[in-house]
Parts: sequence; structure tokens; C-alpha cells
Amino acid sequence: MDALKLEDIRKSFGQVEVLKGIDLEVADGEFVVFVGPSGCGKSTLLRVIAGLEDASSGDVIIAGARVNTVPPAKRGIAMVFQTYALYPHLTVRNNMGLGLKQSGAPAAEIARRTDAASAMLSLEPYLERRPAELSGGQRQRVAIGRAVVREPKLFLFDEPLSNLDAALRVNTRLEIAQLHRRLRATMIYVTHDQVEAMTLADRIVVLNEGRIEQVGPPMELYNNPANEFVAGFIGSPK
Ligand code: ADP
Ligand code: MG
Repeated sequence: MDALKLEDIRKSFGQVEVLKGIDLEVADGEFVVFVGPSGCGKSTLLRVIAGLEDASSGDVIIAGARVNTVPPAKRGIAMVFQTYALYPHLTVRNNMGLGLKQSGAPAAEIARRTDAASAMLSLEPYLERRPAELSGGQRQRVAIGRAVVREPKLFLFDEPLSNLDAALRVNTRLEIAQLHRRLRATMIYVTHDQVEAMTLADRIVVLNEGRIEQVGPPMELYNNPANEFVAGFIGSPK
């Protein structure tokens, strides 16, 4: 069964159609990267998958279930944002455990999962700190840890490295790749950065103006771009 299936997803804001019929199937455990220029609809598509935005038409199917009317918290997904979106007044531990707490998990279970996630992301020394006492890279690891704690069927990342400097970007990217190998989870990752896409993806989805231009493994897109746009974006000469 596919972890995620999108069927003819369309989304308009007022008169403007931003997503123009997106069809995609993502296999269990796959790492899929959406790339495309700024404004092409990447974040909107991710928000539709997460349920933060309703599609104008089409179906979102997660692990075989149509979730169009299912609220975000019940979709079995966890999202990591470019801006981290941590609660400033909560410690790292409580930021990571908040989702579980709100869904009524027992304290011992929350502690067990928070400890496991913080070990995976080397966050143990910072558990009692607040976000303001952390670097940008540490904050993003907390946001990733918060997603891990929820043990989602599907991880959604929206340009998670964009606010980090170059060295941290490489480190955090490697950490996300390692997390994918360890958890064998399905991950959907949005970026406008070709290097991130080429190094992380099992398959790349190239978006342009609300449509999919091409889908395939990185080297296939690199060697056989479907058109000038893909060639220009993935960086091979055509
Ligand atoms: P990307 O993430 O690829 O940069 P977005 O999905 O954020 O692109 O935006 C795609 C288009 O939809 C842009 O033209 C943007 O201005 C527009 N858009 C996004 N969200 C809204 C909104 N809530 N209301 C109106 N227009 C929006
Ligand atoms: Mg965006």
C-alpha cells in the first residue's frame, strides 16, 4: 500500500489556481523531494497533505485512507517548518512532548519517546533549556525531534534548512538522511535547493507553476530531463 496518494489535487486562492492537478503515489519508506522555484506551490501542496489547507478538489489518501476531512492532528503526519515553530515559553523537553501530551499519552510514554528522540538528535544536553537559549541549528533539531516523538506515518519537511548557515545546512541534512535510514519512515521534503534534492531523494518531483514537470530518481532526471525546465533546474546540460 502507498504511504501517500494524491489524486488530481487542485487548489485556488480566489481566482488564482496555485495547484493545477497533482497526481502522485509515494511508497512506504520512500524519501520524496519536491523541488521548484519560489511560488510554484510547494508549501501549498505540503499544507494540503497535512490538512492545514483544504484542496479545492481532489483526494489526499494516507496509508489507504481518504483524509480530506480528517483534521491535521489525526492524519498520522508530523511537519517540520522552516521557522521551527517552537513554543518560546516551553523547555525543549516540553516542546517535544507537547503533541503527545495533548493527545492524552501517559507521562512515562512521553518521557520514553522524548528521551529516544533526543538521543537520536544529540539533544540530551539541552532538554531543560528554552528555545531562546539555543542556536538555530539546535532549534531545528528540536523541531525535528518533536516530529520524531510523534512517531508519524509520514514526515513533511518544508525547507527545513533555509534559515541555517552553510555548514549547519550540511550537518542537518546528513542528520535527516540518517533519521530516514533509522526510522524507515516515509518522508516528503520541500526545497528549492538542487543539492539537497539530489543528495536526499529516492525520487524527485519537479514542480513548476502548480504542475508536475517530471518525477524520478535523481540520476534519471539528471541524465534524462523531460524538458528544458527540468534540465535547467536539476543542472544537467540539455
Ligand atoms: P512555494 O512554497 O513553492 O514558494 P507557495 O505554495 O507558498 O509556493 O505559494 C504558491 C502561490 O500561492 C504563490 O503565488 C503564493 O503567493 C500563493 N499563496 C500561497 N498561500 C496563499 C494564501 N493563503 N492566499 C493567497 N495566495 C496564497
Ligand atoms: Mg514555500
